[in-house]
Amino acid sequence: AKEVGRDNYAFFTERMDADIRAKLAIQAQLRGAIVRGEFEVHYQPQMCLRTGTMLGAEALLRWHNPVLGQVPPNRFIPLAEEYGLIAPIGLWVVDTVCAQIAAWQAAGLGTVKVAVNLSGSQFAHDGTVASVEQALRRHGVPAASLGLEITEGTVMGDPDKAVAALGRLKDIGVAISLDDFGTGYSSLAYLKRFPIDVLKIDKSFVDDVTSKASDAAIALSVISLAHNLNMRVIAEGVETREQVEFLAAHGCDEMQGYYFSRPLAAGAYTTLLREKRML
Ligand code: C2E
Ligand code: CA
Ligand code: CA
Ligand code: CA
Repeated sequence: AKEVGRDNYAFFTERMDADIRAKLAIQAQLRGAIVRGEFEVHYQPQMCLRTGTMLGAEALLRWHNPVLGQVPPNRFIPLAEEYGLIAPIGLWVVDTVCAQIAAWQAAGLGTVKVAVNLSGSQFAHDGTVASVEQALRRHGVPAASLGLEITEGTVMGDPDKAVAALGRLKDIGVAISLDDFGTGYSSLAYLKRFPIDVLKIDKSFVDDVTSKASDAAIALSVISLAHNLNMRVIAEGVETREQVEFLAAHGCDEMQGYYFSRPLAAGAYTTLLREKRML
């Protein structure tokens, strides 16, 4: 038994070492990633469930590193937060998105609304709001074309500061979405406190919305909750025709998901815009 214990311990420390090494490798590469131009923003269409038209997109960050290959955001975003690198990365995303919105405008493709994901520690920096305003001004983009997606985790660190920052952004016309709604600890309290325009029904409730009565009940409750609070509601992670029909029939405003499109590089998204592709 003693031997087994030792082996387990050896196995455990080995695995821990590997994990730490992997994290350190990401940390080392992450530092210069902006300067080396390794990030790219992809755009996932957000579709109106009443008219079938494309209303805008969610911006999703992609990182390709020559050493590590393609690293998924769920892997490097938490580490960027841990290492204090998320502020410059977040601002790079906002700036890149504003430049893209301006390019679409200049190409006569209208004013595309793009929602950017915001991390919690970005609110720890007093400069975030000013930097967002600056990016909008620099690219001549109306604030109404920019949205920000937050989670309960985003605002948990310093809720008072977050309320003030989000209030200021909402005042100038930036739309605020509450992401992953229903998966956190105190969603209802946040709804009361934060200036939210849009609720996003988390994929985990959408997956079985047509086959599980409890998930259907949750989705319908979120839709009426949002509407009673004068908010719009988006279902995320929509993958089937049946889900689209169910959500449309029950008054959900928008959808995004693989059923219509995966997140796309700017060029491919531009093609959808030109073709005025419908749901
Ligand atoms: P999220 O904000 O909840 O984004 C939705 C995720 O679901 C995205 O994964 C998207 O590609 C994926 N998705 C969309 N539709 C479907 C579908 O129909 N089926 C399935 N299976 N998945 C779908 P992604 O791009 O890997 O991003 C993961 C998370 O990383 C995001 O979750 C977000 O929390 C974070 N993230 C991505 N980009 C950024 C960024 O620029 N800044 C920050 N702070 N976080 C980001
Ligand atoms: Ca999101
Ligand atoms: Ca989400
Ligand atoms: Ca998520």
